[in-house]
Formats: sequence, C-alpha cells, structure tokens
Amino acid sequence: MQMMIADQFTESISGERTRIINPADGKPAGEVPKGGKEDVDRAVMAAGDAFRRWSVLPTSRRGMIFWQSAALIRREADRLALILTTEQGKPLREAKDEVLGAAAVFEYYAGSASLVSAGYTDRLPRYGYGIIQRRPLGVCGAIIPWNMPVLIAAWKIGAALITGNTLVLKPSINAPMAVLAVGEVMIRSGLPPGVLNIITGNGRDAGDPLIAHPDVRKISFTGGIETGEHVARVTARTIKRLTLELGGNDPMIICSDMDPAMMADAALRLRLYNAGQICTSPKRIIVEEGIYDTFTTHLERLLRDVTVGDGTDPGSMMGPLNNAEVRRSVEDAVQTLRDEGATIIRGGKNEEFPKNGFFYNPVLCTGVPEDSRIHAEEIFGPVLPIIRADDLDDAIGIANDTQYGLGASIWTRDISAAERASEALEAGIIWVNQHMKLPPEVPFGGIKKSGFGRENGLAFIDAYTEEKTILINR
Ligand code: NDP
Repeated sequence: MQMMIADQFTESISGERTRIINPADGKPAGEVPKGGKEDVDRAVMAAGDAFRRWSVLPTSRRGMIFWQSAALIRREADRLALILTTEQGKPLREAKDEVLGAAAVFEYYAGSASLVSAGYTDRLPRYGYGIIQRRPLGVCGAIIPWNMPVLIAAWKIGAALITGNTLVLKPSINAPMAVLAVGEVMIRSGLPPGVLNIITGNGRDAGDPLIAHPDVRKISFTGGIETGEHVARVTARTIKRLTLELGGNDPMIICSDMDPAMMADAALRLRLYNAGQICTSPKRIIVEEGIYDTFTTHLERLLRDVTVGDGTDPGSMMGPLNNAEVRRSVEDAVQTLRDEGATIIRGGKNEEFPKNGFFYNPVLCTGVPEDSRIHAEEIFGPVLPIIRADDLDDAIGIANDTQYGLGASIWTRDISAAERASEALEAGIIWVNQHMKLPPEVPFGGIKKSGFGRENGLAFIDAYTEEKTILINR
C-alpha cells in the first residue's frame, strides 16, 4: 500500500512506514507510509498547483472522471471490499455494500455536475451590472474516521472535487488502505495529479498540521466530539470554513402498534451492522410499554443465533471491533450500565475468540435507569440497551435527553404519531419506519453536539463554493 500525493509521491518524506493490523487476528494487514507535517506541506502545495488547472475545467469534465471512477469501483468491488474487511473488520458482505455505496455517491456527484452553477448577473438600475460568480474555495482538507472509511471519503471527495476544489484527505490510521485503493482507482480514471492527495498518518502527526495549515481553506471533519472541539479551536486561528460531523446517540422509538417479532429482527440487524460502530446506529432502543416484554423476549432469542467471527468467513454475521481502544470503551460502558442497576442479559467478551482479535459478543441490556449515562454518551459498539417508555410523549422526552442530535427513528403504523414525533425529535435526520438510510440525494449532518454543516443533497454546493460579486458601473 502506498500513500498517494498527486500520483507521483508514494512515500513519506521520512521513509518510515506504519503497520496496519487486521482486527480479526492481530496480524499485519499491510503497511502504509507514515505521513507527518512535511508530507502535509508537500500535499497542500501539490493541491494548490493542481487547483489552478482543475478549478477552470468545465464541471462536466470533472463529472466524467466520477462516472469512470464509479464504474471501476463497481467492477473492482470485491477486491476493494477485501482490503476494507482486512483492515476494518466488518463482514465482506457489509464491506461490499460500503464500496458500492461509494460508487453510488460518485454517480450522484457526477450527475450533479450541471447543478454547480457558475453564478448569475443582475441589472441594477442605479449601479450598472452585478456579476455574481460562484467559485470553488481552493485547497480543502478532510479528516475521516475508521468505521465507514470508504463511504465517508466518497462523500468528501465527491463534494470537494466536483465543485472545483482540490483536496488533502487524511483517513484514520486504523483503516487507511481501502481509501488509498479508491484514490488509486480515481487516478486510473483520469484524475489529474495533485487534485486528490491522501496522507496516511495519525491524528497528531498528520491531522494537526492539516487543520492548522494556513493555505487550507476549509476542513470537513468526521469523528468524535472531543476531536471535533479541538479541530474547531485550531481552525478558528486561520479562519477556515468548517464542517463537523460528530458522533450520534440515535434513538429508535418503537410504538406498541408494531409487531414485536418483526421489530426485534429490525433492531438487531440495524444495531449489529458494522458491529454497532456507525454514527447513526440506533444506540438507544426505546420501546413503548405495550410490547416491551414480548419485544425483549424475541430479541433475546434472536441474539442466541448471532455468529461473531472473522469478516472474511461468510458465516460471520458480525466481525470484530476495529481496535483495542474501541473495545475497551464498549466494555467500560457495559460496566457502567451494570453499576447503574441495568440487567445485562447476554453478551460481552468471550474467551473462545482468537486471542489477538478485538471480538466482542453483542450485549442485550434491559432495565436501563432514566438517568443512565447512555443518554449522555454514545456506545460505539454492539450494545442494545432497551429502554421502556410509558407512551409516545415519554419516548420523545427520553430520545431528546442527550447532547447529540444526529439521527432518530420512529416506527409506527399511525401516521399522526409519526408526524408528531418527526416534528418533536431533535436530530438532523428523522426516519419513519427505517433507520440508518443515507442516500446521497439528501443532506446529512447533525444538530446540537453532533456538529454543524451538511454533506450530500444540494448542501454541498454552498459548503464548497463561495460567491464573489463584481459591480460594473456603465
Ligand atoms: P476520532 O475523533 O478519534 O478520529 C477521527 C479522525 O480524526 C481520525 O482520522 C483521527 O486520526 C483524526 N484525529 C485525531 N486526533 C486529531 C487531531 N489532533 N487533529 C486532527 N485530526 C485528528 O474518532 P474515531 O476515529 O474514534 O471515530 C469514532 C467517532 O466518530 C465516533 O464518535 C462516531 O460517532 C464519530 N463518527 C461520526 C460520523 C458522522 O458522520 N457524524 C460518522 C462516523 C463516525 P487517527 O485515527 O489516525 O489518529
């Protein structure tokens, strides 16, 4: 694996490399160049040079590169999925979903090329003419986490590049290889040198110099709240534009008019997807009193059949967690629930798993107290806390009792209940009878401490361009 800066630099300046670990067995999955400040400087310079040529290309030409990249990603989806599974841990089936999702995102941006307006003119009787140009920002920076690296990279690459910007992208050191492979596919699809620059390094060595760089005009960051606060402080010093996609603590409200068996199946599949390591995973399952007991009984039964194992084994429904730190944080959260008096029905660490993998059995937890810490802090792993609600108002109150506001779902056949909840729930995206669906056609982003700014939809145009006014006095 190589770091790609333009398409000519494939090594870090120091020549050092970082080994990437396979979370299923602790063995090396590959290695990448160890990027640092000098590499960031070199990448920003390459992106600045490329900007002069890329920004003046017709958007349709930029769109063609995205069509071609999407076609190649689809053709090579199995190869890319395998790279993703071996560094991230998720089952191959989910890795392929993610890779194909990235292709769909590129197709969306290719198709949106014609929407990136170049501006407009206006006749102003007392002033002459106004020419309002819409221009790209320049060199942008993106920082992404390890949980859905290919999809999140595609959101940021698509939006930044189609609007005429160039990009320096830093994936997490816990999952950089599949993102590099996507970059390489883009170069084969005709992406010119310097337009996309991928720096493989950790947050301190490569992330900090990127967010502090004076020539970077915007940072789009996806990650945890604490890092997001740091990014906001540092980028303020150079007055950069900023998009923050931070964590989520999504509620999934299940009303008592729903079939409990069907809902147990839906909750299980959604929460165990990517081993629960998704910002919009339903992290608090709030069930109305009427079906709480039957729902829990069904869920407990379903959990017995969940197979946890190496993501490359087709029999594995769920893979390992990505790294030791995330497993430790999930273990701590489960211990806190236990200390608070909640009942842990099943799950946790299992001695039978390979010693060096980061496996963790899904946990079902009932009797969660009203003031539990799970409302304050997201659990980034396969834990299903089931919370009892007296009625819909009670459920909405519990759902909103958190600093997060990324997504929320309501499951009911009653259209007025769905409408009331959709209005009252505090989140950037509300799902009715579904959860975790993020088609690129709709804007995505959070409120409250889940961040600000939107990706996808049409929001990308404002997010990655600025207007310049020229007033002509005739
Ligand atoms: P982190 O915030 O730890 O890391 C995110 C990215 O920031 C990584 O690339 C990391 O680099 C980098 N980083 C770390 N420190 C710095 C720094 N000082 N300066 C610049 N960059 C830095 O989050 P996790 O990787 O642990 O991801 C999990 C979190 O992300 C969860 O809270 C989750 O909810 C959230 N998330 C939000 C999403 C959303 O769209 N809202 C989507 C997915 C996840 P490195 O890892 O290489 O050190």
